[in-house]
Amino acid sequence: MNLSDLKNDWINEFPQPMMIAGPCSAESEAQMLETARRIKETGAQVPIFRAGIWKPRTKPNGFEGVGVIGLNWLKKVKEEYGFKTATEVANAHHVFAALEADVDILWIGARSTVNPFTVQEIAMALRGTNKTVLVKNPVNPDLALWIGALERLLGQGIENLGAIHRGFSTYQKTKYRNNPNWQIALDFKSQFPNIPMLIDPSHICGNRTGLAGITQEAMNVGYQGAIIESHCNPDEAWSDASQQITPEVLAELIGNLKIRNSGLAGFDGEMGRHRTLISDLDFQLIELLSQRMKISEKIGKLKKENDIAIFQPERWKVITEYATQKARETGMSQDFIEKVFKAIHEESIEVQNSIMIDRK
Ligand code: PEP
Ligand code: MN
Repeated sequence: MNLSDLKNDWINEFPQPMMIAGPCSAESEAQMLETARRIKETGAQVPIFRAGIWKPRTKPNGFEGVGVIGLNWLKKVKEEYGFKTATEVANAHHVFAALEADVDILWIGARSTVNPFTVQEIAMALRGTNKTVLVKNPVNPDLALWIGALERLLGQGIENLGAIHRGFSTYQKTKYRNNPNWQIALDFKSQFPNIPMLIDPSHICGNRTGLAGITQEAMNVGYQGAIIESHCNPDEAWSDASQQITPEVLAELIGNLKIRNSGLAGFDGEMGRHRTLISDLDFQLIELLSQRMKISEKIGKLKKENDIAIFQPERWKVITEYATQKARETGMSQDFIEKVFKAIHEESIEVQNSIMIDRK
């Protein structure tokens, strides 16, 4: 059986878009129950409660999760409020403990998806169960690795699968914690329209203000749901405090989403997809321009310290030459590229000029 053959009927058990919400980490029984109660009380359509029990932290000595005791709290959330539950598993021991505690949905985190040994270990531990497993994209922008992880699960007979788009690491700091790189997730979606795709705006944004925009964008391009971090007291959260929202803010976000019936089909779907890709590229253009201007500033400082004229005609000649050459190679109008570079160069000189004036 191939990934393309999977029916993934499991998702039809839930209203769509399928929402998963809950804290980044389980911290205490009280925090879990209060968060669950408040999500329930908002009346928002959130059938699944998430909480990280084991936390992969970038640096040592941070809070690494409460461990198995938190599984009891997930169980209580299920018993008291009727949620299905979800948690991250990163090795066979986690899988056995989560199965034992009857967690309904497991997900593989972005740091695990990159490692075929880890994914294989998890897949083998799940063999013979019919758990639903969601696979987050790997931290690095590698579509094959993401698909490969799902194939490993299928290889062990796990047929209830889904994917989570949580963005990709970049060295350059941008306004996102993890760059969405929509292209990769949309390529995944076109290759496997039968595998539910959820958006994780929390880990893409790393802040609270961008969540609604990213979630709406995902709905516009036909994602089937979202996983959003929500905490009863976000400012005091033990992990990912800056991106978590209260249950009430979560409910407002969900209530404001515009869900289009057309999904990926037809004109709207196609337009939505193209627009998302264009916005993604525009964002990258702006980031690149900003990086270029920052380097210009550094050059401006060097020129000032060494008493060199700002405008260097021979340098401008080199830039025009490679820009028009590249325009030829990519089939764009040379005239257009020259105009663009003239504008960039003018701004760059402007930036350097202001440095000269500032420092006088
Ligand atoms: C999480 O969902 O809390 C998490 C650790 O996510 P990711 O694997 O995307 O970093
Ligand atoms: Mn988190």
